[in-house]
Parts: sequence; C-alpha cells; structure tokens
Amino acid sequence: MKEIILLKEGEIAIKGLNKRSFEDAMVRNIRRRLKRLGNFAYDRSQSTVAIRPLDDDVDFDAVEDCVSKIFGIAAYCRAMVVEKDFETIAKQTMPYIEEAMENARTFKVNAKRADKHFPMKSPEICAEMGGRILEAFPHLEVDVNNPDVTVTVEIRQDHAYVHTGNRKGAGGIPVGTSGQAMLLLSGGIDSPVAAYMMAKRGIKLSAIHYVSPPYTSDRARQKVERLCEKLTPWCGDIAFYCVPFTEIQEKLRDNCPEELFTIIMRRLMMEIAQRIAEEKEISALITGESVGQVASQTMGAIVCTDAACRMPVFRPVIGMDKTEIIEIARKIDTFDISIEPYEDCCTVFTPKHPKTRPVLAEVEAAQNSFDFEPYIKWAVENTELKVIRCGDEF
Ligand code: ATP
Ligand code: MG
Repeated sequence: MKEIILLKEGEIAIKGLNKRSFEDAMVRNIRRRLKRLGNFAYDRSQSTVAIRPLDDDVDFDAVEDCVSKIFGIAAYCRAMVVEKDFETIAKQTMPYIEEAMENARTFKVNAKRADKHFPMKSPEICAEMGGRILEAFPHLEVDVNNPDVTVTVEIRQDHAYVHTGNRKGAGGIPVGTSGQAMLLLSGGIDSPVAAYMMAKRGIKLSAIHYVSPPYTSDRARQKVERLCEKLTPWCGDIAFYCVPFTEIQEKLRDNCPEELFTIIMRRLMMEIAQRIAEEKEISALITGESVGQVASQTMGAIVCTDAACRMPVFRPVIGMDKTEIIEIARKIDTFDISIEPYEDCCTVFTPKHPKTRPVLAEVEAAQNSFDFEPYIKWAVENTELKVIRCGDEF
C-alpha cells in the first residue's frame, strides 16, 4: 500500500508576500528531518504540500511522527494512494480505515472528483462506498451532519486518495524564519519548555550551559546534551555551548556578599551568554524563568538580572504555573530526563538566605568591587561548542 501526507499550512497561509519564503523554510525543515527515513518528493500546489515517498519500504509511522513535530504545519492528513478503479479503491479502503472505525459510532463518506472522466459521480461514490463500509463494519451508522469519522475519497488526475481527515499539526511558524536566539539551558524542567515555545514562533536556537566541575559532574552535562537531543525534532539541530563556570563561582563566593551570590551569578551568566551571542550574530536570549518560582525569580531579582542585559530576554514560561510547564515537558518528552537527579551549577554554593528583594545599586556595587572581567574572558574563550543533531547518542 502507498501512502502520502498532505500538509495544511497554518499562519504561513496568511503571510502575504512572504508566504513563499515561509513555505520554502518549512519544506526545507521537513526535508532535513525526513532524510534519515528515505527519499521523498514534495509536490506543491496552491496551499498544500504533499509528501510522497519514492522508496517502497518507508516506515510511514515514523514519517508521520516527524511531520507532527515540524512547526508551520497547522494540520496534516495521511492518505492512501490507490489506482483509480472503484473496486480496487473499495477493497483497499476497508483495512486502511479499520483503526479509525474501531472507536467510531458514526461516519459519512465525502467524495471529491477532480477528474471529471471518472465513470462515477460524487454522490454515487458516496452511496456505494457508504454501503461497503456498513457491510464491513456493522456497528457503524451513517450520520451526515455530525459524524465521528469522515472518510474522504478524492479522485485526482493520477490516482485516488482515501483518508479519514486531518490531524492536528505542531502549529506555529517554521523554525529559522524569526531569527536566532541563545537559550540558557539548565538540566531543569523549565528551560527545555521555553526552548519549545520559542522554536514554535520560528526562532532558531542555540543553547548555552554552565558547568562547574568538579562540583558538577560530566553526567550532569550529558544530561543537558540529551535534553538538547530531545528538543531537535521540534527545534532542528542545536549548537550547544558549554561554559566552564567553576572559577567565576569560586571568585564570586570569596569576594561578594553571600546573600547576593545567586543574583550576581545570574548576571554573569547573562553577560557570558551575550558575548557569545553577539559573536555569532544571535540577537536575543531565552530563559526558563517563571515569576516567583524560586528566590532568583522574584520581580526584584528579575529586575536585577535584566539590568545586566543588552539584548531582549524572552521568558516564555514567565506567567505559567509549574503544572502547566510540566504538561508541556511531558508532551515534548523532556520531563523524564529533567527530573534525573544531577546537580546544576546553580545549586553549587547557594546561599542559605538569598536576598529576595535585591536593590540594583547594591548588586552593581557588590559586583563591581571585584574585577570579574579576566574570568569572564577566560570562560568565553574556553567555551566548548558541539552541534547536537536528531538521533545523536550520548
Ligand atoms: P529550570 O527548570 O529551567 O532549570 P529553574 O526553575 O530550576 O529552571 P533556575 O535554576 O533559577 O530555575 O534557573 C532559571 C533559568 O536560568 C533556567 O530556566 C535557565 O534558563 C537558566 N539556567 C539555570 N541554570 C543554568 C545552567 N547551569 N546553564 C544554563 N542556564 C541555566
Ligand atoms: Mg534549574
């Protein structure tokens, strides 16, 4: 049996003159992602793109899974391709729709006849196919107004297509059409969710992670690399920057007031992220901060962190509850990795009583009382880059 996937574009369809470049980006992303699964042709007409496998033994469930995670696709439809002969169509339709029909109680048939030379007219196709379906699945009833499943038979010039309707796509706009941002990626639950949310808005991500060996282990870093890999089906390849942060944290511990440790550390993280971002022509930062979640995320703390930033900081989970964030983390399958118990550099040297209402002038004065510049420079120079791709193993 041959299958294809028909794509329905979402917001792209309303992008006016830019539509073509959005569509190009979407198809490019799909091509890149499907390469591992075989050879495909992409037929584009009006607002639909059809993905057609060129090999016989394609794992179509894997193809569907890939496609369902590509931003820019509002909905998609998996269809069977059959020879244009009614008996053949009817025969092959029954096993193809079996799964969809198992949980349905009502159905209708919808016929579209683009090839006007086909010997049966649309109402005839509907009536005849409806009868065959009732015979094959006696538990079903016809309901033309509000059916559980609509079986569509499309007679086109080359072939006939049969499908049971659209499935929801990933939505959003194609990754790469909104510029690039640098994600501050910890091993926690929130920042991978922030990554997913901004990629959905078309942003191409790089990720930066701070490590403090020997206080943090190599396993902790690998955990974050695995999180990156989990994000690639949604975000594409990720340039992963790993920053050696131990010395900065030690200097900070030895030279600044304990209760300001976390807030100054976060400002230094932002500084390093910005320097690398500027070098790579990346124009914004992303974090997984959510107001009030922990001491470093009170309004006052965010004001002090933000004051250290020259570029916009996107915080897509800022107004979300932890339960809402976890729901997305489960959906994108990062949750189980995020809860693995490895230490993060943020938990090294954490003060017992961090200031929840830091005053910016005080924070700046404390930070300026020590010359961090040589350490920042060293950390930037010694940052390691690794590109994480879908299917990478650690
Ligand atoms: P998360 O679940 O994303 O770890 P969190 O609730 O644990 O967030 P914090 O530890 O205060 O909160 O971190 C807030 C944000 O700072 C994170 O969402 C992330 O963007 C960034 N961050 C924290 N630790 C690191 C790190 N080691 N490397 C890179 N970014 C980090
Ligand atoms: Mg964290």
